[in-house]
Amino acid sequence: MTMALTGIVTTDLAAVTRGRWLPAARYEAGAETGIGWLPANLSLTLFGGIANPNPWGSTGDLRVIADRDARYRTAATGAESVFDIVMGDIVELDGTPWPCCPRTLLREAVAALRAQTGLSLRMAVEQEFQIFGAGYPPAHPLSVEALRRADPLAPQLMAALEEAGVEPEVVLAEFGTDQFEVTCAPADPVTAADRAIAIREIVREMVRVRGGRASFAPKTAIDAVGNGVHIHFSLVDSEGRPAGYNPAARAGLSAEGASFCAGVLRHLPALTMFSAPSVPSYYRLRPNSWSASWTWLADRDREATLRICPTTTIGGRDPARQHNIEYRAADATANPYVAIAALIRAGLGGLAEVLPPPPLVADHPDTLDEACRAALDLRRLPDSLEGAIAAWQADTAAQDWFPADFNATWLGVRRAEMARLADLPAEEICWLYGTLC
Ligand code: GLU
Ligand code: MG
Repeated sequence: MTMALTGIVTTDLAAVTRGRWLPAARYEAGAETGIGWLPANLSLTLFGGIANPNPWGSTGDLRVIADRDARYRTAATGAESVFDIVMGDIVELDGTPWPCCPRTLLREAVAALRAQTGLSLRMAVEQEFQIFGAGYPPAHPLSVEALRRADPLAPQLMAALEEAGVEPEVVLAEFGTDQFEVTCAPADPVTAADRAIAIREIVREMVRVRGGRASFAPKTAIDAVGNGVHIHFSLVDSEGRPAGYNPAARAGLSAEGASFCAGVLRHLPALTMFSAPSVPSYYRLRPNSWSASWTWLADRDREATLRICPTTTIGGRDPARQHNIEYRAADATANPYVAIAALIRAGLGGLAEVLPPPPLVADHPDTLDEACRAALDLRRLPDSLEGAIAAWQADTAAQDWFPADFNATWLGVRRAEMARLADLPAEEICWLYGTLC
């Protein structure tokens, strides 16, 4: 006999989603007061221990209250019991938001954008992952066989994601060995991050119950194709109408869209500390890997960090609602709420200063000379996590994106993880992340 359970969860700075479980029948009554939590949980690392130093110590109590609108439930994963999690917000015991809750930080960034500019965002997070241990025979990248050899995983996955409410759009066998990708429909930023988490957990569960392991790690081997997390965004006005698009402008980028991108590019080196926060993140962020390596905005170029995506006019379709920008310097070792909040804070800085449109660069920065790159303000992204931390420490505006205790916790977690990996060769680090992420 089993009892249906509902998990109230929060995603921490190691990008691990953790929580506690209630009998599903008592969930409604318990959602408002949620589950017990503690500040030091935010200092948990990917390797299990609590980072030291941290601002929290062993004292303090919090709650994680359920966001009733963010319940992801499906009976179709193939597991013995129903998959049922509800995204939660960390609050003090009297219900006031806890200033370091990642989901709250994203909500606050969205509110600041709206308050200062009247604008909002529509977003979708596109995620790649690899499947290990399933015994798939080799197959060509993107091929019919590459997807069908996994049958019935793909159709069952899409059914489970549909039932859970993430609005899945496309599933494909990607370019890497045993690599797949799932996309979903755009939504408001908090929902987009919630969906990214739900997709990760549902994919992991479905592969696990079939005897394999899904990994979203940025690199599972040093010479493997990377697993990217691509964050698509479009600015919209208070009525939900496209605000980032102007058909008369270069690459369709409106003045507001351009200022937002200029802010992101300005802060990119610091931003990578939040969107690519692990040692192996920087094995992926290299030129010629279709990830990201320069402060580079381009029209439909997959090497660019900010890629203006294509629109189609097939069947008379309107490009205005399709036009979006893809931020490619993220991976699944990043907490998606934090990565998106940082992206919004950076873009908001550009909007507030009414930054001019950044150059649209058609040539790969690697092929340009130093003077040309300087004229186009093309800067190399950090090539290590240490470099990203240094870039953030040199960016005073970025240090104000989040509260001081949050920043201290973030640095503590990153440093604890770096210390754990200090003596390991890159290949072993990739393997380890492949098993943990
Ligand atoms: N696998 C690439 C990455 O690491 C992305 C490939 C693509 O454009 O989908 O981001
Ligand atoms: Mg892809």
